[in-house]
Amino acid sequence: MTWEQRWHPLRREWVVVAAHRQNRPWNTEPLQRVVRALPEYVSDCYLCPGNQRVSGARNADYSGVFVFDNDHPCVSPDAPHELAPPGGIYQSRPARGVARVVCYTPRHDLSLAELELSSVVSLLETWQEQYRELGARPEVNHVLVFENRGEVVGVSNPHPHCQIYATNFVFKGMELELDAERDHRRETGRVLFQDILAAERADGRRWLVENDGAVAFLPYFARYAYDAIVAPKATYPSIAELSRKEVRELAAVLLELLVRFDNLWEMPFPYVLALHQAPTDGADYSYHHFHIQIHPPLRKPNLLKYLAGPEVGAGGFISDTSPEDKAAELRAVPALHYRQRR
Ligand SMILES: [Zn+2]
Repeated sequence: MTWEQRWHPLRREWVVVAAHRQNRPWNTEPLQRVVRALPEYVSDCYLCPGNQRVSGARNADYSGVFVFDNDHPCVSPDAPHELAPPGGIYQSRPARGVARVVCYTPRHDLSLAELELSSVVSLLETWQEQYRELGARPEVNHVLVFENRGEVVGVSNPHPHCQIYATNFVFKGMELELDAERDHRRETGRVLFQDILAAERADGRRWLVENDGAVAFLPYFARYAYDAIVAPKATYPSIAELSRKEVRELAAVLLELLVRFDNLWEMPFPYVLALHQAPTDGADYSYHHFHIQIHPPLRKPNLLKYLAGPEVGAGGFISDTSPEDKAAELRAVPALHYRQRR
């Protein structure tokens, strides 16, 4: 049994690790294992090529990566500049920006983990272009790229896609991380993320995939059972600065990690994936190390990590597993996708 607290250096908070809790009894119905074969094209899918969306716009007859403005944006370039005063001590500000959708492939039946490496490279190049283009807009101060995968994280359409929120504000979690990195640079002169990489490399138990330019690991301070980080080895504030070679290396590591996730229980592995990139407000973020964080909500094939009393009620994470054990599981599965083996 372990009762341990681990410091999360990017969020500057403690994570409680109580790994013996993993096998406590649960009365839950198994989650639906989505193993049905999907068709390559679905006529009423709003993401498939050539189809009409609810807004009336029609998708291009695309063959690679396809980007369009979200028909239901949570931020808008048309947000009013002047808001009515909310009264008393309350404050408000406009949520301005651009929301986009990025389809990974015309194939409705695939996922990021099942794409060819060349298609993953194209996707990462699209993320580079989008960061540059949207980040150059004067009203955009941050470009958040994220993918929600799986019904348990609220995705109704399985067509592989991600979203981009280019906003006039920086989300709180990113601010926390940037503050930690900035303070670490000031106090030590070093890049915080490089110190994390050095600690993970020295320990080795949570190290998963590596090539010349990129790595994937479950960090010491993981909050979810399979919390993973994918990163280039060199420090860049955003994905836009990576060379073609580094993009290819990052794509290869990301792809292998996602294949290992799917192979773990031979089912599509749900997750929330987010790019952690520097704001685009013109300030110096040379201390920020661009990386991708992947947060899978499952602890077992039929068991969600429920966010409850400690997490929602008090804002602190209790992890029921140790990342050392979970990394060993992921290293033991094949690196070829189970659907490609059949
Ligand atoms: Zn589709």
